[in-house]
Amino acid sequence: MDSISEVCRELLGLAHYLGDARQMAIYGEGNVSGKVDSEVFLVKASGTSLSTLTEDELVEVRARSLVDAVEDASPMIDEEANKLLLDSRQNSSALKPSVETTFHAWLLTLPGVAYIGHVHAKAVSAIMCSAHAEKFALHRIVPDQVVYTGPSSVIVPYVDPGIVLARHIAKAVRTYRSATGHVPKTILLKNHGIIALGGTVQEVAAALSMAEKAARIHLDAAALGPPIFMEASEVARIAGRSDEHYRQAMLSRK
Ligand SMILES: [Zn+2]
Repeated sequence: MDSISEVCRELLGLAHYLGDARQMAIYGEGNVSGKVDSEVFLVKASGTSLSTLTEDELVEVRARSLVDAVEDASPMIDEEANKLLLDSRQNSSALKPSVETTFHAWLLTLPGVAYIGHVHAKAVSAIMCSAHAEKFALHRIVPDQVVYTGPSSVIVPYVDPGIVLARHIAKAVRTYRSATGHVPKTILLKNHGIIALGGTVQEVAAALSMAEKAARIHLDAAALGPPIFMEASEVARIAGRSDEHYRQAMLSRK
């Protein structure tokens, strides 16, 4: 596992990569997180910009109470959710963690997941605001989409950002894992955006960039008629190929 200064450096690199130049997130949109150990992680502070993120804008938080709140089903009013976020900080003078910190906390408990990126990328968001959302999540249009974003994505309906969204994400990921036997690489949020999970920031960056490219291809193809997806057997073939596993493993290298 990376030390806190390494996690910080990796997250700043990821945040700047995803920021304004790529238009995956502008102003306060999107967030990133990285695991320091099983108890603590770093997450972007609320209202800060990915493109200009600084070390002070990454907040060190304790995971336990956040994960417990996601796994609990009892309703939570805004003041309680706000207090939960503020109380999770290791240092009480640190900035307020992102409103989405609860889903980061829960997703970072999944096996093999050490880093998370969430953005409102334009083409992915366009599809998430259309009747094509489920098709984009369940099917694949090009082979590299299988390699970097997984053979399919989790899809979550639009719900209120914060604890309600975190609980819906947890439910959808549990269903996906029991159906497929693996941890998803990408989670699509209707009328909102995309989350990528990985063992390294390179995996997260690749998943988000490739999802956005596939979404642009999908939109262009849809202008010519209904998009033609890869057959399920072809998707399974790419997902199982050893040379593709080699390419995936290259991303896990530091
Ligand atoms: Zn968002």
